[in-house]
Amino acid sequence: MYLNGSFMPASEARISPMDRGFLFGDGIYEVIPSYQGKLVGFTPHIDRMQRGLAEIGIQFDWSHTQWLDMIKELLMRNGNGDLGVYLHVSRGTDSKRGHAFPVGVTPTVFAFAFTINPPPTGLPGSAKPIQVASASDLRWKRCHIKSTALLGNVLHHQQGVDAGYQETMLFNEQDELTEGSSCNAFIVKDSVISTPPLDQQILPGITRLLLLQILRKHSTLPVQERVISKAEVLAADEVWLTSSSKELMPVIAIDGQPVGSGEVGAIWYQAQQLFAAHKFADEHT
Ligand code: PMP
Repeated sequence: MYLNGSFMPASEARISPMDRGFLFGDGIYEVIPSYQGKLVGFTPHIDRMQRGLAEIGIQFDWSHTQWLDMIKELLMRNGNGDLGVYLHVSRGTDSKRGHAFPVGVTPTVFAFAFTINPPPTGLPGSAKPIQVASASDLRWKRCHIKSTALLGNVLHHQQGVDAGYQETMLFNEQDELTEGSSCNAFIVKDSVISTPPLDQQILPGITRLLLLQILRKHSTLPVQERVISKAEVLAADEVWLTSSSKELMPVIAIDGQPVGSGEVGAIWYQAQQLFAAHKFADEHT
Protein backbone atom coordinates (compact mmCIF):
# COMPACT_ATOMS: atom_id res chain seq x y z
CA MET A 1 0.00 0.00 0.00
CA TYR A 2 0.90 3.68 -0.16
CA LEU A 3 0.90 5.89 2.93
CA ASN A 4 2.12 9.48 3.19
CA GLY A 5 4.83 9.30 0.55
CA SER A 6 6.01 5.68 0.86
CA PHE A 7 5.03 2.26 -0.47
CA MET A 8 4.96 -0.50 2.14
CA PRO A 9 3.29 -3.81 3.03
CA ALA A 10 0.01 -3.40 4.96
CA SER A 11 1.65 -4.91 8.06
CA GLU A 12 4.02 -1.94 8.22
CA ALA A 13 1.49 0.85 7.72
CA ARG A 14 0.94 3.04 10.79
CA ILE A 15 -1.76 5.69 11.23
CA SER A 16 -2.35 7.54 14.49
CA PRO A 17 -5.61 6.75 16.35
CA MET A 18 -5.94 10.55 16.58
CA ASP A 19 -6.32 10.75 12.79
CA ARG A 20 -9.57 12.55 12.03
CA GLY A 21 -10.33 9.95 9.39
CA PHE A 22 -10.50 7.38 12.20
CA LEU A 23 -12.23 9.58 14.80
CA PHE A 24 -14.74 11.47 12.63
CA GLY A 25 -14.76 9.83 9.20
CA ASP A 26 -13.35 13.24 8.18
CA GLY A 27 -12.02 12.48 4.73
CA ILE A 28 -12.70 11.83 1.07
CA TYR A 29 -12.12 8.59 -0.81
CA GLU A 30 -12.23 7.26 -4.35
CA VAL A 31 -12.22 3.84 -6.01
CA ILE A 32 -10.88 3.55 -9.55
CA PRO A 33 -11.04 0.23 -11.43
CA SER A 34 -8.16 -0.97 -13.59
CA TYR A 35 -7.75 -3.92 -15.89
CA GLN A 36 -4.23 -5.11 -16.73
CA GLY A 37 -2.85 -1.72 -15.71
CA LYS A 38 -5.41 0.35 -17.68
CA LEU A 39 -7.56 2.68 -15.56
CA VAL A 40 -11.25 3.31 -16.26
CA GLY A 41 -12.32 6.96 -15.94
CA PHE A 42 -9.12 8.20 -14.30
CA THR A 43 -9.77 11.91 -15.00
CA PRO A 44 -13.39 12.08 -13.78
CA HIS A 45 -12.46 10.02 -10.70
CA ILE A 46 -9.70 12.48 -9.73
CA ASP A 47 -11.93 15.44 -10.65
CA ARG A 48 -14.56 14.12 -8.22
CA MET A 49 -11.97 13.62 -5.49
CA GLN A 50 -10.66 17.16 -5.91
CA ARG A 51 -14.23 18.54 -5.80
CA GLY A 52 -14.94 16.57 -2.60
CA LEU A 53 -11.74 17.74 -0.90
CA ALA A 54 -12.51 21.37 -1.81
CA GLU A 55 -16.09 21.00 -0.60
CA ILE A 56 -15.04 19.84 2.89
CA GLY A 57 -12.13 22.27 3.10
CA ILE A 58 -9.20 19.84 3.01
CA GLN A 59 -6.29 21.56 1.31
CA PHE A 60 -4.52 18.92 -0.68
CA ASP A 61 -3.55 19.95 -4.16
CA TRP A 62 -1.97 17.00 -5.93
CA SER A 63 -2.33 17.35 -9.70
CA HIS A 64 -3.76 14.60 -11.88
CA THR A 65 -0.19 13.73 -12.89
CA GLN A 66 0.91 13.29 -9.28
CA TRP A 67 -2.04 10.99 -8.61
CA LEU A 68 -1.39 9.06 -11.80
CA ASP A 69 2.30 8.52 -11.01
CA MET A 70 1.48 7.15 -7.55
CA ILE A 71 -1.36 4.95 -8.85
CA LYS A 72 0.72 3.50 -11.70
CA GLU A 73 3.47 2.59 -9.25
CA LEU A 74 0.93 1.01 -6.87
CA LEU A 75 -0.61 -1.03 -9.70
CA MET A 76 2.81 -2.14 -10.89
CA ARG A 77 3.82 -3.22 -7.39
CA ASN A 78 0.56 -5.23 -7.18
CA GLY A 79 1.09 -7.04 -10.47
CA ASN A 80 -1.07 -4.95 -12.85
CA GLY A 81 -3.97 -7.46 -12.92
CA ASP A 82 -7.67 -6.67 -12.51
CA LEU A 83 -7.37 -4.27 -9.59
CA GLY A 84 -9.42 -1.61 -7.86
CA VAL A 85 -7.45 1.33 -6.49
CA TYR A 86 -8.71 2.79 -3.21
CA LEU A 87 -7.59 6.40 -2.57
CA HIS A 88 -8.19 8.17 0.73
CA VAL A 89 -7.28 11.63 2.01
CA SER A 90 -8.23 12.49 5.59
CA ARG A 91 -7.88 15.89 7.24
CA GLY A 92 -4.94 14.54 9.27
CA THR A 93 -3.95 13.92 12.87
CA ASP A 94 -4.97 16.30 15.65
CA SER A 95 -4.13 15.46 19.27
CA LYS A 96 -7.14 17.39 20.66
CA ARG A 97 -10.10 15.75 18.90
CA GLY A 98 -11.82 19.10 18.55
CA HIS A 99 -14.70 19.36 16.11
CA ALA A 100 -13.32 22.53 14.50
CA PHE A 101 -10.88 22.04 11.65
CA PRO A 102 -7.41 21.99 13.25
CA VAL A 103 -4.98 24.58 11.87
CA GLY A 104 -1.72 23.54 10.26
CA VAL A 105 -2.27 19.77 10.11
CA THR A 106 -1.03 17.71 7.18
CA PRO A 107 -3.62 15.51 5.42
CA THR A 108 -3.10 11.76 5.63
CA VAL A 109 -2.86 10.21 2.15
CA PHE A 110 -3.43 6.52 1.81
CA ALA A 111 -3.99 4.11 -1.10
CA PHE A 112 -4.15 0.40 -1.68
CA ALA A 113 -4.99 -1.94 -4.55
CA PHE A 114 -7.42 -4.85 -4.28
CA THR A 115 -8.43 -7.63 -6.64
CA ILE A 116 -11.68 -7.16 -8.55
CA ASN A 117 -13.55 -9.63 -10.73
CA PRO A 118 -13.00 -9.46 -14.46
CA PRO A 119 -15.69 -7.09 -15.79
CA PRO A 120 -18.96 -8.45 -17.17
CA THR A 121 -18.77 -8.68 -20.95
CA GLY A 122 -22.48 -8.38 -21.61
CA LEU A 123 -22.25 -11.45 -23.86
CA PRO A 124 -24.94 -14.18 -23.61
CA GLY A 125 -24.47 -16.20 -20.42
CA SER A 126 -22.27 -13.57 -18.78
CA ALA A 127 -24.90 -11.88 -16.60
CA LYS A 128 -24.70 -12.18 -12.82
CA PRO A 129 -28.13 -10.89 -11.80
CA ILE A 130 -28.78 -9.67 -8.28
CA GLN A 131 -31.80 -9.33 -6.02
CA VAL A 132 -32.24 -6.29 -3.81
CA ALA A 133 -34.27 -4.90 -0.92
CA SER A 134 -35.93 -1.48 -0.95
CA ALA A 135 -35.72 1.00 1.94
CA SER A 136 -36.33 4.63 2.87
CA ASP A 137 -33.13 6.60 2.33
CA LEU A 138 -32.11 7.65 5.85
CA ARG A 139 -28.65 9.02 4.99
CA TRP A 140 -27.63 12.67 5.23
CA LYS A 141 -28.30 15.53 2.80
CA ARG A 142 -24.79 15.62 1.32
CA CYS A 143 -24.75 12.30 -0.51
CA HIS A 144 -22.96 13.93 -3.47
CA ILE A 145 -19.76 14.02 -1.36
CA LYS A 146 -17.75 10.80 -1.44
CA SER A 147 -17.11 10.97 2.29
CA THR A 148 -15.28 8.23 4.16
CA ALA A 149 -18.07 8.50 6.78
CA LEU A 150 -20.12 5.66 5.29
CA LEU A 151 -22.12 4.45 8.27
CA GLY A 152 -25.44 5.45 6.68
CA ASN A 153 -24.56 3.48 3.55
CA VAL A 154 -23.22 0.54 5.55
CA LEU A 155 -26.43 0.26 7.60
CA HIS A 156 -28.56 0.39 4.45
CA HIS A 157 -26.40 -2.22 2.74
CA GLN A 158 -26.74 -4.50 5.74
CA GLN A 159 -30.55 -4.16 5.60
CA GLY A 160 -30.42 -5.83 2.19
CA VAL A 161 -27.94 -8.47 3.32
CA ASP A 162 -30.04 -9.28 6.40
CA ALA A 163 -33.07 -9.79 4.14
CA GLY A 164 -31.03 -12.23 2.02
CA TYR A 165 -30.27 -9.87 -0.88
CA GLN A 166 -27.12 -8.33 -2.38
CA GLU A 167 -28.04 -4.63 -2.29
CA THR A 168 -30.59 -2.11 -1.05
CA MET A 169 -32.29 0.41 -3.33
CA LEU A 170 -33.13 3.67 -1.60
CA PHE A 171 -36.14 5.99 -1.95
CA ASN A 172 -36.56 9.48 -0.51
CA GLU A 173 -39.51 10.82 1.52
CA GLN A 174 -41.44 11.48 -1.68
CA ASP A 175 -40.96 7.81 -2.65
CA GLU A 176 -38.57 8.82 -5.43
CA LEU A 177 -35.56 6.69 -6.35
CA THR A 178 -32.21 7.99 -5.11
CA GLU A 179 -29.59 5.24 -5.55
CA GLY A 180 -28.30 1.99 -4.06
CA SER A 181 -26.32 1.85 -0.82
CA SER A 182 -23.11 1.53 -2.88
CA CYS A 183 -24.17 2.17 -6.48
CA ASN A 184 -26.28 4.31 -8.82
CA ALA A 185 -29.55 3.10 -10.31
CA PHE A 186 -31.09 2.98 -13.79
CA ILE A 187 -34.47 1.76 -15.04
CA VAL A 188 -35.63 0.76 -18.52
CA LYS A 189 -39.28 1.10 -19.56
CA ASP A 190 -40.49 0.64 -23.13
CA SER A 191 -36.85 0.86 -24.30
CA VAL A 192 -36.29 4.27 -22.63
CA ILE A 193 -33.33 4.29 -20.21
CA SER A 194 -33.69 6.60 -17.18
CA THR A 195 -31.63 7.49 -14.12
CA PRO A 196 -32.22 10.05 -11.34
CA PRO A 197 -30.71 13.51 -11.94
CA LEU A 198 -27.56 14.65 -10.11
CA ASP A 199 -28.26 16.48 -6.87
CA GLN A 200 -27.30 16.21 -3.20
CA GLN A 201 -29.31 12.99 -2.81
CA ILE A 202 -26.93 10.82 -4.83
CA LEU A 203 -23.25 10.28 -5.52
CA PRO A 204 -22.26 11.47 -9.00
CA GLY A 205 -21.05 8.00 -9.99
CA ILE A 206 -18.35 7.74 -12.62
CA THR A 207 -19.84 4.52 -14.05
CA ARG A 208 -23.15 6.42 -14.33
CA LEU A 209 -21.35 9.27 -16.11
CA LEU A 210 -19.45 7.02 -18.54
CA LEU A 211 -22.54 4.91 -19.24
CA LEU A 212 -24.63 8.02 -20.06
CA GLN A 213 -21.87 9.31 -22.38
CA ILE A 214 -21.48 5.92 -24.08
CA LEU A 215 -25.23 5.36 -24.53
CA ARG A 216 -25.75 8.88 -25.94
CA LYS A 217 -22.92 8.37 -28.40
CA HIS A 218 -23.27 4.73 -29.41
CA SER A 219 -26.93 3.77 -28.90
CA THR A 220 -30.12 4.99 -30.51
CA LEU A 221 -32.18 4.34 -27.37
CA PRO A 222 -33.46 7.45 -25.57
CA VAL A 223 -31.66 8.24 -22.31
CA GLN A 224 -33.14 10.48 -19.62
CA GLU A 225 -31.95 12.00 -16.35
CA ARG A 226 -35.14 12.65 -14.41
CA VAL A 227 -37.00 12.04 -11.16
CA ILE A 228 -38.21 8.42 -11.01
CA SER A 229 -40.99 7.30 -8.65
CA LYS A 230 -40.94 4.05 -6.72
CA ALA A 231 -44.04 2.97 -8.65
CA GLU A 232 -42.06 3.40 -11.90
CA VAL A 233 -39.18 1.33 -10.54
CA LEU A 234 -41.54 -1.48 -9.54
CA ALA A 235 -43.21 -1.37 -12.99
CA ALA A 236 -39.92 -1.16 -14.95
CA ASP A 237 -38.94 -3.70 -17.60
CA GLU A 238 -35.33 -3.65 -16.36
CA VAL A 239 -33.45 -2.22 -13.38
CA TRP A 240 -29.65 -1.88 -13.28
CA LEU A 241 -27.25 -0.75 -10.58
CA THR A 242 -23.86 0.69 -11.54
CA SER A 243 -20.53 1.00 -9.76
CA SER A 244 -16.87 1.14 -10.65
CA SER A 245 -15.88 -2.35 -9.66
CA LYS A 246 -19.07 -4.09 -10.89
CA GLU A 247 -20.06 -1.96 -13.93
CA LEU A 248 -23.74 -2.68 -14.77
CA MET A 249 -25.55 -5.10 -12.43
CA PRO A 250 -28.94 -6.37 -13.62
CA VAL A 251 -31.55 -6.49 -10.83
CA ILE A 252 -34.10 -9.27 -11.31
CA ALA A 253 -36.15 -8.86 -8.13
CA ILE A 254 -36.93 -6.12 -5.58
CA ASP A 255 -38.18 -7.30 -2.17
CA GLY A 256 -38.81 -10.69 -3.76
CA GLN A 257 -41.02 -9.28 -6.56
CA PRO A 258 -39.70 -9.92 -10.07
CA VAL A 259 -38.50 -6.98 -12.17
CA GLY A 260 -40.12 -7.21 -15.63
CA SER A 261 -40.00 -10.84 -16.72
CA GLY A 262 -37.77 -11.73 -13.76
CA GLU A 263 -34.89 -12.42 -16.15
CA VAL A 264 -31.97 -10.27 -17.27
CA GLY A 265 -33.32 -7.91 -19.93
CA ALA A 266 -32.15 -7.58 -23.54
CA ILE A 267 -31.18 -3.93 -23.09
CA TRP A 268 -28.82 -4.78 -20.22
CA TYR A 269 -26.88 -7.02 -22.62
CA GLN A 270 -26.65 -4.22 -25.19
CA ALA A 271 -25.66 -1.60 -22.64
CA GLN A 272 -23.06 -3.75 -20.86
CA GLN A 273 -21.52 -4.71 -24.21
CA LEU A 274 -21.30 -1.04 -25.23
CA PHE A 275 -19.78 -0.18 -21.86
CA ALA A 276 -17.19 -2.95 -22.25
CA ALA A 277 -16.32 -1.76 -25.75
CA HIS A 278 -15.96 1.95 -24.97
CA LYS A 279 -15.03 2.38 -21.31
CA PHE A 280 -11.34 2.96 -22.07
CA ALA A 281 -12.01 5.47 -24.86
CA ASP A 282 -9.81 8.55 -24.57
CA GLU A 283 -12.64 11.06 -24.56
CA HIS A 284 -13.78 9.62 -21.22
CA THR A 285 -10.42 9.81 -19.43
N1 PMP B 1 -23.44 5.62 -5.06
C1 PMP B 1 -22.81 5.27 -3.92
C2 PMP B 1 -23.48 5.53 -2.62
C3 PMP B 1 -21.55 4.63 -3.99
O1 PMP B 1 -20.92 4.28 -2.86
C4 PMP B 1 -20.96 4.38 -5.24
C5 PMP B 1 -19.60 3.77 -5.36
N2 PMP B 1 -19.44 2.52 -4.78
C6 PMP B 1 -21.67 4.74 -6.40
C7 PMP B 1 -22.90 5.39 -6.27
C8 PMP B 1 -21.13 4.45 -7.78
O2 PMP B 1 -20.07 5.33 -8.08
P1 PMP B 1 -18.93 4.91 -9.10
O3 PMP B 1 -19.60 4.53 -10.38
O4 PMP B 1 -18.10 6.13 -9.23
O5 PMP B 1 -18.20 3.76 -8.49
